[in-house]
Amino acid sequence: MIGELIKGLGVTIKHALTSKRVTIEYPEQKRTLGPRARWRHVLLRHEDGLERCIGCSLCAGACPARCILVEAAENREGARYSPGERYAKVYEINMLRCIFCGYCQDACPVEAIILRPIYEISEYTRDAEIYTKDMLLMPYPNPQTEDLGNTNA
Ligand code: SF4
Ligand code: SF4
Repeated sequence: MIGELIKGLGVTIKHALTSKRVTIEYPEQKRTLGPRARWRHVLLRHEDGLERCIGCSLCAGACPARCILVEAAENREGARYSPGERYAKVYEINMLRCIFCGYCQDACPVEAIILRPIYEISEYTRDAEIYTKDMLLMPYPNPQTEDLGNTNA
C-alpha cells in the first residue's frame, strides 16, 4: 500500500518537474487564437458611418439556434440609418443560445455581421446575455481595435 503511494507520488513529481506546462495564468495571460476564430458578433458600418445592416432578417432565418431577433423599419428623410430602404430598428442576439456556427455571417447579403475573436463574453445575469443593437453595433466615428477583436488576443 505505502509502496503504491510512493510510486504514484513519484510519477506526479516526475511530471511536475519534467513536463511542459499546458495551463496559463488567465486572465493575465491569453492564448493566441486561430485566424478563423469565431466568437462575439459585431454589426459593421460603412465608412460614412451608415449601418451596413438593411434589416432583411436573412441572418435570423439561417440561425439554427433561433437566437437572432430583427425588427426592420423604413429609412426616412432626415432619419437614415442604412443605405437601403430599411434598417434594423431592433437587432438582438441571445448569446446563451448561440452556438457560434457563423451561419448568420455567411447568410448576410451585405456583410453586415461578423464574428470576431472576442471570447470574453461571460456575464453575471441571463438578461445581460441578450446582446442589443447598441452593444453589437460598431462604434462610430472612432472604432477601437478591441471593438473589432482584431487584437487576436
Ligand atoms: S453564430 Fe450561429 S447560432 Fe450564433 S447567432 Fe449566428 S447563426 Fe445563430
Ligand atoms: S445582419 Fe445582414 S442578414 Fe442580418 S438583417 Fe442585417 S443585413 Fe440582413
